[in-house]
Amino acid sequence: MPVTAVVGANWGDEGKGKMTDYFAKKSDIVVRFQGGNNAGHTIINDFGKFALHLLPSGVFYDHVTNVLGPGVALNIKSFAQELEILISNKVPEPKILVSDRAQVVMPYHLLFDACEEERLKEKKFGSTKSGIAPFYSDKYLKTGIEVSQLYDRKNLSDAVKKAVEIKNIVLKNLYGKEPLEAEEIIEEMEKQAKTIRPFLCDTTIYLRDSLEKNKKILLEGQLGTLRDPDHGIYPYSTSSSPLAGFAAVGAGIPPYRIKEVIAVVKAYSTCVGSGPFVTEIFGDEAEELRKRGGDAGEYGATTGRPRRMGWFDCVATRYGCMVQGATQAVLTNLDVLGYLEKIPLCSAYETENGSKIKNFPTTTVLQNCLPVYEYMEGWKKDVSKAGKFTDLPDEAKKYLERIEKEIKVPVSWISVGPRRAELIKRDGARIFS
Ligand code: GDP
Repeated sequence: MPVTAVVGANWGDEGKGKMTDYFAKKSDIVVRFQGGNNAGHTIINDFGKFALHLLPSGVFYDHVTNVLGPGVALNIKSFAQELEILISNKVPEPKILVSDRAQVVMPYHLLFDACEEERLKEKKFGSTKSGIAPFYSDKYLKTGIEVSQLYDRKNLSDAVKKAVEIKNIVLKNLYGKEPLEAEEIIEEMEKQAKTIRPFLCDTTIYLRDSLEKNKKILLEGQLGTLRDPDHGIYPYSTSSSPLAGFAAVGAGIPPYRIKEVIAVVKAYSTCVGSGPFVTEIFGDEAEELRKRGGDAGEYGATTGRPRRMGWFDCVATRYGCMVQGATQAVLTNLDVLGYLEKIPLCSAYETENGSKIKNFPTTTVLQNCLPVYEYMEGWKKDVSKAGKFTDLPDEAKKYLERIEKEIKVPVSWISVGPRRAELIKRDGARIFS
């Protein structure tokens, strides 16, 4: 069956970009089904190093068609800028299709995101200020604008005027800002309409036809389970669902066609933005891990902000894999831990009343939980050259096997460095099964 989803099981930044880029080689189509340019997928390949925000991670392959489904928050300016960066770095012009039902991120979504973070001061959510929360609020409030509306002057004008009328009341009275001019926005969006027009199509029909032809489709999630608005650490969540279950909706394919859900899991924890983070570490301990993590330290691919650092959290990750419906996992960044004598692993939480729990609780309970650690032996070696599982030191194998047992999903791939080749495939690993 030809559909596989690649999703995050933690807080995002697990290394999904690297893995999607790797799996895209065997795919015909890569689809983004939710979110916008608010996350960054770092990819290091033969063309260089890239941080993709909105474009699917299949854009580096000639044979891949990249799709932005109806569930995506389409920021046309950001789309064009990202494409420009690829082309100026000599990446052959990728094939990209954008759903004509996708809604567009409007200039006022960015403005409202910034105004709200400013108003919340120290209580802010740590938004990337890409307009994502105001965008999805408008979508569900039914004041959003579909990309196809941009080509009907009257329709666009009515929709913008209706939205601006309400927004101006809030802008003036809540944020103390100047009102918006509907005409300016309409003009701007008509310009953006020209940019995106060549990419638009009915991607739902395209995907249906592709399924009939047995094409291999990879669904690429953004962020991770714990940012899901229904199942994550609400309200420190994102505004669209990063779950494989939602991929069927946001891409527009039958749910029963998704046969493999590959959860990407990091060998330690990182988190960007606010919210409870039970295994968080601070000071020198955090700085040491941060500077060794990722490909150039753990800093946000979109914002450049230092990521919050923590040890591996079995409670959160088991839950993350379960909610995703993971059939296999990828463990990334194993190489980063090679400096430690002992590696803490959080196998349970202690709640405020002193009881130990193994199931991930609601945010209210979570914010008072403490980690219960066990300590694994470190391997104190560089594992980035390991080409197969048997090349790994015994301690690294034990660490991985302990995680595997806790998360209850087989780890089929182990990433030992940021580059494409730095990957170990285990027996039984499969995509498009
Ligand atoms: P994504 O949003 O899930 O794609 O993740 P990001 O790209 O935001 O963050 C992952 C970071 O880890 C990036 O800097 C990657 O280049 C890097 N990375 C991915 N896999 C590995 C790995 O196995 N080892 C190391 N050292 N870095 C990795």
